[in-house]
Amino acid sequence: MQQLIQSQRDFFNTNATKSIAFRKQQLQKFYDVIKANEKLLYEAIYKDFKKSEFDTFTTELALVYSDIKEAKKKVGKWSKIKRKRTNLTNLPGKSYVIPEPLGVSLIIGAWNYPYQLSFAPVVSAIVAGCTVILKPSEVSSNTSAAMAKIINENFDPHFFKVVEGGIPETTALLNEKFDKIFFTGSTTVGRIVYQAAAKHLTPVTLELGGKSPAFITKTANLKMTAKRLIWAKFLNAGQTCIAPDYLLVDESIKDELLELLVSEIKNSHFSTDNGNYVQIVNTRNAERLISMIDTDKIYFGGNHILEKRHIEPTILSEVSFDDKIMEEEIFGPILPVISYDNLQETINKVKSMPKPLSCYVFTKENTAKNKIFNEISFGGGCVNDAVMHISNSHFGFGGVGESGMGSYHGEDGFKAFSHYKSILDKSNLFEANLKYYPHSEKKLSIIKRTMGL
Ligand code: NAD
Repeated sequence: MQQLIQSQRDFFNTNATKSIAFRKQQLQKFYDVIKANEKLLYEAIYKDFKKSEFDTFTTELALVYSDIKEAKKKVGKWSKIKRKRTNLTNLPGKSYVIPEPLGVSLIIGAWNYPYQLSFAPVVSAIVAGCTVILKPSEVSSNTSAAMAKIINENFDPHFFKVVEGGIPETTALLNEKFDKIFFTGSTTVGRIVYQAAAKHLTPVTLELGGKSPAFITKTANLKMTAKRLIWAKFLNAGQTCIAPDYLLVDESIKDELLELLVSEIKNSHFSTDNGNYVQIVNTRNAERLISMIDTDKIYFGGNHILEKRHIEPTILSEVSFDDKIMEEEIFGPILPVISYDNLQETINKVKSMPKPLSCYVFTKENTAKNKIFNEISFGGGCVNDAVMHISNSHFGFGGVGESGMGSYHGEDGFKAFSHYKSILDKSNLFEANLKYYPHSEKKLSIIKRTMGL
């Protein structure tokens, strides 16, 4: 590992990655390598948790392709030197910022969208001009092996290398000095990564998880709400960091919404046989999820087959904030529904919990929407939809507080792997003598006047 990191540092120090032509060429190569190996990638992810080609393309590869295309198009603009205004004290002179790549980067991926969560940060690293060591999640072992194969067979390891492994390998990597660490995963491991990075003062982006609420007020279009919520919750069998973790529903419309949710589940024909559903990633997680289902509160579903790692889409009703299911991120196909009659109290409750990665509001009322967005701190979200904000690369994606720090996709991704050097470029034409010794009352008063004080 030390040799690998040193070889990437040596390569970075040749300045090769700083040329725009090199970045464009590597981005195109990345695109071509993924495209040429799509079949292998589809087969691997199906082996890991029976994810279909349709879902893999729409929720993983499509996003990576569009990020690469945008990065290639915008790399020149993003990496341009940017002019800034110069303050009076420094005239005559020019001011500008020079974006520079941070250097050797480590990207640690999660298993739930293994391609997207590993490759999208790589796009950000390449467009910024960094070298990359990618460590995918060992939990989805087939996709990890597939990524290692296609990358390590096609890229120079001194520029981009996939290192496979679990906790020991990741720990060994984290002991080394990187110039940037980008981590996607749980809040618990996020803390470990942050501590390791602190040792070398390495800047980090942490893309973590949490319990993302969805508010449904009494003015919501319930049919559309049910349709969008069921898709967002049971996509990837709920193993989505920005899935609506639980619903907060106005008491007056709860019964109607519950019925609509069930009919949407039935309409969706969720089954791994038809590709509309996936398995839980491993037995440990399936057992964890099954233990979360309070059988007294099942409104719909609840059936499971442990050997097949299958859990039916499940709705729990009459849930309260004190229930066990509200203690941790669910990360599976169980949807608890909490009803409320006082929106402010419900907002206060959410505010007392760790800051969520996402928050969704289904409503026609501006006041409710504005109140929720004004009061609750969270990563990002949607009005009258869920999950879809991630598909818009015109804004960044990331968490806040316990759900993460920093953001990426599009220009935010470029910034995550860059440092902006501020340069004051002075003219030799003139020099005010005010700052020089000997100091005097008169000089001080002129300084104050020029500052408007
Ligand atoms: P995880 O934290 O268990 O693992 C993530 C990565 O960390 C893996 O590559 C793993 O090998 C490594 N790792 C695990 N334990 C480690 C340790 N002790 N020391 C060093 N490295 C270690 O997370 P996961 O189970 O892969 O993913 C699920 C979590 O990730 C959920 O909380 C989910 O919300 C979150 N997530 C967040 C995003 C996001 O974009 N914010 C996306 C997907 C998943």
